[in-house]
This record gives sequence, C-alpha cells and structure tokens, in this order.
Amino acid sequence: MKELLRQLPSVDELLKHDRIRHLLETHPRVLVLEAIRKALDSRRKSILESAGKSGQDREIPVSGIVSHAEEILARLMEPSLRPLINATGVVVHTNLGRSILSEAAIERIIAVNRSYSNLEYDISAGERGKRHTHIEGILSRLTGSEAATAVNNNAAAVLLCLNTLARGKEVIVSRGELVEIGGSFRVPEVMERSGAILREVGATNKTHLKDYEKAINENTGLLLKVHTSNYKIVGFTKEVTPAELAGLGKKKNIPVMWDLGSGSLLDLASYGIGDEPTVRQAMDAGVDVLTFSGDKLLGGPQAGMILGGKKHLDAIRSNPLARALRIDKMTLAALEATLGQYLDMEKATRDIPTLWMLTQPLAEVQRKADLLAAGINGLSMPGLAVSIHDDLSQTGGGALPTGKLPTRVVAVSHKTLSANEMESRLRLGSPAVITRIKEGMVLFDPRTLNDSEIGKIVESMGKILQDPATLVR
Ligand SMILES: *Cc1c(COP(=O)(O)O)cnc(C)c1O
Repeated sequence: MKELLRQLPSVDELLKHDRIRHLLETHPRVLVLEAIRKALDSRRKSILESAGKSGQDREIPVSGIVSHAEEILARLMEPSLRPLINATGVVVHTNLGRSILSEAAIERIIAVNRSYSNLEYDISAGERGKRHTHIEGILSRLTGSEAATAVNNNAAAVLLCLNTLARGKEVIVSRGELVEIGGSFRVPEVMERSGAILREVGATNKTHLKDYEKAINENTGLLLKVHTSNYKIVGFTKEVTPAELAGLGKKKNIPVMWDLGSGSLLDLASYGIGDEPTVRQAMDAGVDVLTFSGDKLLGGPQAGMILGGKKHLDAIRSNPLARALRIDKMTLAALEATLGQYLDMEKATRDIPTLWMLTQPLAEVQRKADLLAAGINGLSMPGLAVSIHDDLSQTGGGALPTGKLPTRVVAVSHKTLSANEMESRLRLGSPAVITRIKEGMVLFDPRTLNDSEIGKIVESMGKILQDPATLVR
C-alpha cells in the first residue's frame, strides 16, 4: 500500500502531462488544478480502502488519473443553471422554469440587450421616459384595461397593490381563498408584509356577499378576491363572484382587487381546457385592480401584470416599493414581444410554446409518441419493453386545477434495470431527461417534447442501456 501511495504522481507532474497541458489551453487553471486534486484524492482513498484486499493493483496508471481529472473538469465546467428535457407532460412546470419563451421573445431579448436601448427614454421627446410605457399600450389593447404595468412577478404585484391600496387598513377576503401557492406564497403572509390587516369572512366552503357586507367598516381599505389556483372546493359550496364583489365595492366606494393567478389571454375553455375566464372576461367583471403572472398561462417571462384604472395604477407606480419590485429590461423585452404575438391569436397558439403544448391536437401528441417509441425500439436493446398508453398531462403552475389534458405516453420497462434506476440515469445524463414513473415503468409524455428532444432522449436511452452495470445485475 505504501509503495502504491509513493507511486502516486504529484500535482506538478500531472500538470506536465500532455493531456493536462492541452486542457490548460482551453480551461481556467484554477478548475484544472481542482480537478487534478480531486482525482488524486479519490485515487488515494481507493488505495487506502482496498489495502490488504486481494486483487489490488500493483501499479498506478497515470492515464487513469488524468481521465478521471478530465471527467471531473467537464462537470466543473458545466453551468449550474442549464437546459434540460421535460418529459413529464407538466406544461407550466414550476421547478423546470415554467414557460419556455417563444423565438420572438428570445430574439427581442438579444436585440435589446446587445445594445443601449430606450428603456427609460422617450425618443420623440428627447427626455426621460418610463419603462412601463413599453407594455402599457399592448396590455390595454389585449385586455381592455385603462392602464397597466408589470413588476417582477405576481407575488410582487399582489404585495405592491396591497401596500398601495390598503396599508394600515383592513382587507376583506374569503376564508376559502386564503391559499398557499408553491409553498412560499401564502396570501395571509404576503398580506401581513404589505402592512394590510387581514379580515377573513365566511367559511372554507361557503362565503356569501352579506359576509363581506357585514365586515365592512370605516377602516376597510380593499375587498380582495384570490383565485384558488391549485385546488378546487367541490360539493356544498358558495363563492361570491368577482362581479358581485365589484358591485359591492362600487356601492360602498371601496376598491376591489382580484388576484387572478395564472391569467390566460387565450380562451382555453374553447379548447375544452378548464373553465377559467380569460383576462379580458375577468376585466369585464368590473373589479378595480387585476393581477396575474407572466410565465404561467400567458407563456412569457417571469413577471406580474397589474391592470386597472389610471387612478389606482398611478398610485401603484409611484409607491416607493415599485422601484424595488420593478421589472428588468430582459424581461420587459421578452414580455413586449410575447404580448405582441397575441395580436394574431391563431399564430400565438402555434408560436408561444406554452399555448402550443396545451392546445396541440391529440394526433400530434400521438405522432411524437410513435416517433419516440420507434426510436427506442430501433436501439434493439435486449430486455427492453416499449408501449404507448393513454394518460393525462397536467397544465401545472397552479393553473386550472381541474383541467386534465388527455395524452399518449411512451412507457418503458427493462428486465433487469428498475424504473427507479432508469429514471435516475436519465436524470443524471447530459442533457438531463426528467420523466415520471408509474406502475414500474418510466413514462415519457410527448406533450412537452419537440422532435429534436425526442432524438436526444433516444440517444440517452442508448447510452444508459449500454452501461455495463445494466448487464451485471
Ligand atoms: C402563482 C400565483 C401567485 C404567484 O405568482 P408568481 O408569478 O409565481 O409570483 C399569486 N397568486 C396566485 C393566485 C397564483 O396562482
């Protein structure tokens, strides 16, 4: 063992090795050094661990250590935030980046950020401008709202609106709508941080207009309606409609706000997906302020839209908090481009990935399932079983909790490789492929895949099944 440890090359010796010298030409020295040290440490550890055991190596092949260092370096060079393949069929997948941007949005981000821009500059007047002007016109055109702005995300939109309209005052909200979204956005907590005072009314399953009416007093600042995005109470229920609440607000001269959550500009109900109003239909209910996300059903970048009358929007925009929550120029560029695509609704459903994934015909999902199944079968891997089944995709993102999307999944199982093992090998590959497991099979839902990703999945399947560990078991 001591002999083997003595044989271990030094870091300096390795730095002179041809392949390492080659790496140094194209990689940062600090990372090459870290990779060498890690490879040496791991070798030292394995010598110590196998001390006294039979079958112990008598020599240390330097090339083996170099190869290991190369592998470690490749991993160190990989960005932490990177693309992956979402084969889960969850369209607005919060953990996987929610909405994919359209090509138009990506191009606009690049064009605007490669150069100086008129972010806060009025070109025709030659003086300082406001950043919200870039999206206010298009948002108004698409939704019928008098005024509009966008902030960092919908959580920021809600915080900013509550703080502007109801700081130090009571906000009346139904008990059934005190929701938690994604574990970190809880209506009562955001309310508290905004400085507003929560005034719950009604019961979890039933709230009547008279419950709101009875709770109104001289310190009431706002009536709030929150979309219960990720769950639905069914059965013996009663909720007050936004239009009823808007009517009560008008009568009592109290502003009414609706946190719409997802907010769709496309009428998904007409595609048989869910039963939610569009943003324009929501505006028609007559509430004073409306908020929703940019990267859920809208299919754009992370952002929070705020729609409403000019009076409220002016107050919201001049709140000092607005500066802290403002949208950046990359987002603004992507948002303006995405909203512009909605001017031609038919084109929007094809060109905005979130909309296309939701509305593509089942025949298209079937075509992609056939392509993937044929590709995997074409690998002719022994022990592999491939089939296509009916299943359901999910909208995700807390959108349309009851909207189920019929899909066709490719199900794969292997004689010796468990579904869990297959799932983890796909996930740890490059690019990572994220799948679902059901009844001992790995499922690929083609709803969230394009043809080039299907090719990459087939390649990845080939690699993970060639791994000798598959055959040993
Ligand atoms: C998703 C959601 C939010 C939070 O929106 P983000 O854009 O994720 O900040 C707030 N309210 C409702 C009802 C939601 O569904």
